[in-house]
Amino acid sequence: MKYIDFHTHTYPDQPDKITAILSCVAPEPLTSFKNGILLSYGIHPWYIEGQDPEKLMAQVKEAAHYNRVVAIGEAGLDKVKGPPIDVQKRLFSQQIEISELVRKPLIIHTVKANNEVLLFHKNFAPKQPWIIHGFSGHPQEMEQFVGAGFYLSFGPRILYQEHKAAESLKQIPADKFLLETDHTNKSILRVYEKAAEIRGISLKKLAFTIENNFNALISIP
Ligand SMILES: [Zn+2]
Repeated sequence: MKYIDFHTHTYPDQPDKITAILSCVAPEPLTSFKNGILLSYGIHPWYIEGQDPEKLMAQVKEAAHYNRVVAIGEAGLDKVKGPPIDVQKRLFSQQIEISELVRKPLIIHTVKANNEVLLFHKNFAPKQPWIIHGFSGHPQEMEQFVGAGFYLSFGPRILYQEHKAAESLKQIPADKFLLETDHTNKSILRVYEKAAEIRGISLKKLAFTIENNFNALISIP
């Protein structure tokens, strides 16, 4: 049984047990990442400040073609941190186009911008799947995204039972979710155990479900 950490910023501590997608943020070059690990590559709204957006975009365009880059992102919109929303929107739409061009899914970071992200999805009508990473919304938000065809990836917030994200995870259709550790030092095993408990299924069944979802989204080189 393999655990899948759909979105992380650190190398998995047990590579034989964990398949991870490491989130690489431009302008970090691909060459600084070990071989044999799956990557996503994109412009994160937090790290645009002080950079030349054209140069960052050129890097994303190039990285997008590499086999080990299995997804574009994390890209997206953040109304709390980052440059003016217009700048973020422009870079987001360019990354949507790259995702469509190279036929790789888009991993999305959204903070207080869910409606905008939904609107982008409606307007672009992308063929590639979109995944909201670190989803922490309540069940109504979950339903909105799932209804529009999105996948949701849940992180360590679900470890807090009372958190609205745990309730969303409990209710989301089995073929629409993934799990991740993101910037935390929490173990993906722990997130799996909690997710199995929340959904009232065995760890084995959960792992099987997530593996299927992962395979539906990601082509491994
Ligand atoms: Zn991240």
